[in-house]
Amino acid sequence: MSVNIQAYQSILSELQPSKITLVAVSKTKPIEDLRELYDLGQKDFGENYVQELVDKHASLPADIRWHFIGHLQSNKVKLIAPFVHLIHGVDSAKLLSEINKQGIRNNRIIPCLLQIHIAQEETKFGLDEPELKAIFAGIEELSHTAIVGLMGMASFTDDVLKVQAEFRYLNSLFKQYFSKFQPLPQSDVQPILSMGMSGDYIIAMKEGSTMVRIGSLLFGARN
Ligand SMILES: *Cc1c(COP(=O)(O)O)cnc(C)c1O
Repeated sequence: MSVNIQAYQSILSELQPSKITLVAVSKTKPIEDLRELYDLGQKDFGENYVQELVDKHASLPADIRWHFIGHLQSNKVKLIAPFVHLIHGVDSAKLLSEINKQGIRNNRIIPCLLQIHIAQEETKFGLDEPELKAIFAGIEELSHTAIVGLMGMASFTDDVLKVQAEFRYLNSLFKQYFSKFQPLPQSDVQPILSMGMSGDYIIAMKEGSTMVRIGSLLFGARN
């Protein structure tokens, strides 16, 4: 009822020619809505809150790939470390080292994206360029974390040119750091550039996104 199946199918067909992955952002939405998309074949779901993710993971099929896209606190990493598919919003060396510690504890390599601050708004989290560089310099010490790409959120504005410029900047960093970088040795994992939401995914696609995170177009507005 509240899932927009038509929008889902049309978004998939837009993404398909460029093989862009759709993460269905299901935060605050009930299990039944996720199940409805799952039954249509959707496997990648994104959540912002740790406890909600843990609960949904426990009640839905095991082959769902869970993306954590919110702001993650270090003391909560352990709750999602056993099963999370990709952590999108990593924005400090401290968080990264906690993820690595939990990777060791769970005997798995946890894939992460570094969040870059690209919007003008003060409130959005993320690394700047020198911080990104510093984190890359320490990457080899992380045995159980794989930095597989970058994530960013553009300014919330109708100014298309501004959003485009922010995404273009993010893609330039992505190319700089990931074009020659094989995040997971001996695997076919391609580097990921996670950018684009309901309001700006079309722009993000044109600017080279490989993964979009879409919520309200699929599930309706959140309260
Ligand atoms: C909520 C959220 C989304 C989805 O936003 P919509 O505008 O509903 O598509 C994408 N990315 C992040 C990081 C979010 O918090």
